[in-house]
Amino acid sequence: MTTVLRHHGSRRGTGYAAWTVVVEGTDVLLVDAGFPDDAEALVASVTAAGRTLDDVVAVLVTHAHVDHVGGLAALPAHVPVLASQGEAAHLRREFLEQVSPAAIAARAWRPRVARWAVGVLGAGGLRPVRDTRAVGVDVDTGERLDLPGRPVAVPTPGHTSGHVAWHFPDDGVVASGDALVTAHPTSARTGPQLLDRMFHHDPAAAEASLAALRGLDADRLFPGHGPAVRWARGRSR
Ligand SMILES: [Zn+2]
Repeated sequence: MTTVLRHHGSRRGTGYAAWTVVVEGTDVLLVDAGFPDDAEALVASVTAAGRTLDDVVAVLVTHAHVDHVGGLAALPAHVPVLASQGEAAHLRREFLEQVSPAAIAARAWRPRVARWAVGVLGAGGLRPVRDTRAVGVDVDTGERLDLPGRPVAVPTPGHTSGHVAWHFPDDGVVASGDALVTAHPTSARTGPQLLDRMFHHDPAAAEASLAALRGLDADRLFPGHGPAVRWARGRSR
């Protein structure tokens, strides 16, 4: 069956957050869900694919930060939310691995950081987000899940301990979450890149996880921030 994957960004157009809509037949799978205030745009992205929220069969989460799970509240309560075991616990807020306000304040002399912080506040970035539906799946098996696009989890710890990218082998797409982005308001660069160190729970692990992404059979990168790009593997830093 034909699978169509589309990458959508925040309606604010500044690349704060992005998610992926996967359509196969009448079924819809989402990878991530944007900020709380992206809920309307999330619904619109499903509508743009000719489907409705009732067609959403599951959401895959790369990691449990507010800019990737804020829109989950817009989905019907029965829709399963799947993540790695560690990230599911993170999403239930059994703990929190997130850049601290103090770390942001220490860098707020950088105009891009200051502007980003203001934007995040405007997108509901301080609203507490917690999703008790989160179900942990075993992500180390390399197994393809019985979901649209038959995705495979790619453990990519570092940004958060339980971070995973989701690989769609038949389509040559990897939804990389925040393991690899293509733009961010705090960066002057474009193209595949790591986020600023302050955003990673373990920066060295985030760097090491790039190898897992480079090893994938994929030529399109659908990142958690920035536009989707054709991806020449191995050239990203
Ligand atoms: Zn993010």
